[in-house]
Amino acid sequence: MSDSTSNSPDQKTGEETKAGNYFIANYPPFSFWNEKDLPCVESLLNSPSPGKAPLGLYYHIPFCRKRCHFCYFRVYTDKNSADVRRYLDATMKEFEAYANSPYLAGRKPKFVYFGGGTPSYLSAQQLTELTDRMKAILPWDEAEEVTFECEPGTLTEKKVQAIRDFGVTRLSLGIENFSDHVLETNGRAHRSGEVFRAFQWAKDAGIENINVDLIAGMLEETDENWSECIERVVELAPDCVTIYQMEVPYNTTIYQTMKEEGKLSAPVADWPTKRRWVTEAFSRLESAGYSVTSTCTAVKNPQRTKFLYRDQLWGGADMIALGVASFGHLGGIHYQNLTHFEDYCSTIEGGESVLRRALLTTEDERFIREFILQWKLGKIRPRYFLEKFGISLQERYGEILKDWKEQGILNMEGEEWTLSREALLRVDSLLDQFFLPQHQDARYV
Ligand code: SF4
Repeated sequence: MSDSTSNSPDQKTGEETKAGNYFIANYPPFSFWNEKDLPCVESLLNSPSPGKAPLGLYYHIPFCRKRCHFCYFRVYTDKNSADVRRYLDATMKEFEAYANSPYLAGRKPKFVYFGGGTPSYLSAQQLTELTDRMKAILPWDEAEEVTFECEPGTLTEKKVQAIRDFGVTRLSLGIENFSDHVLETNGRAHRSGEVFRAFQWAKDAGIENINVDLIAGMLEETDENWSECIERVVELAPDCVTIYQMEVPYNTTIYQTMKEEGKLSAPVADWPTKRRWVTEAFSRLESAGYSVTSTCTAVKNPQRTKFLYRDQLWGGADMIALGVASFGHLGGIHYQNLTHFEDYCSTIEGGESVLRRALLTTEDERFIREFILQWKLGKIRPRYFLEKFGISLQERYGEILKDWKEQGILNMEGEEWTLSREALLRVDSLLDQFFLPQHQDARYV
């Protein structure tokens, strides 16, 4: 899951891919989260439960076989089985503390998300034990969606069956590309043969919803190879295809190399090329019967393939975050856990809180957060914001909306306002106009 805020590629860095985070995943920006607001989380957890308010659970597994050159997550490639066990024990201790809090009393998760890192790095036995322990702490019997991210090369047929058996409804395969050369050049651990095998196992296991991830603009990507990747996806016919446009944040190996070589632009395709590739991919998928449902997703059957995790989170739901460096949101408070493995484990073992930073948001910030995140779906329902926040979008943002309309990127007819495809694919560069003045020009930290 991306944890970046905006740098507005088109307006501030020209068309080449420069270092930095481009995509908006939350609001207010992370650089405003702080230690001062940490006691708010504690006091919220000691306050009465909001009853049936939607609740989700994010579980972070920070292990990977190898670090991809474009990766900016907190991941570890050097941990042994004792370290893994220690981590799993620590996360369960963290989970117990949440489950015993008055705020969580009587509540059960509506969605569960296993992200990383590589959740599928764990063995089938570890996964089964882990999820049994989680369910004993807080039952999942009301969870409508359980998502699990996989690196194809870590799967076995037995592991896929174990994943199905503990209740996964949505399996997300990080394919990224079908060319072994491109995969190797970008430091990926898997190869394309493992993708086809893993996909078939997931189909055979009867997993309800299979997603595949691709990245447009990996190192050494070409027009020809990209077209081939899209054809391979159409042949596989997954329920959902997610396509990210390559960004090169500062804490990536690619940026390290750029710095050593004194280069300002990353050695990947520029933004217009990446957007063209996504445009071509979406057109091809549409011709194969898919519908484009957000800036990065195309789904085969929009009625059947839901994104509860995304939609609930973008609608302000509570989400408990478990694990090192995890991001959560409870009662209008954003928070993040300690970001280093040793720190995280030893703090929990010592019975202390692992929260690192938090932000108690205002009602207005919560409105802006939902408003900007929902634009990433390519459509907005003005009535939703009027009913939930009492805010008329016309009154609040009349100037910007008029400008978008004049540019031909916004259609305001009917109950739903929609963005043009061209604008949808660069929507992250449009959204900081809606930020409060103190958050304009904020950078990811
Ligand atoms: S598999 Fe994912 S989390 Fe792991 S190193 Fe690669 S990009 Fe990062």
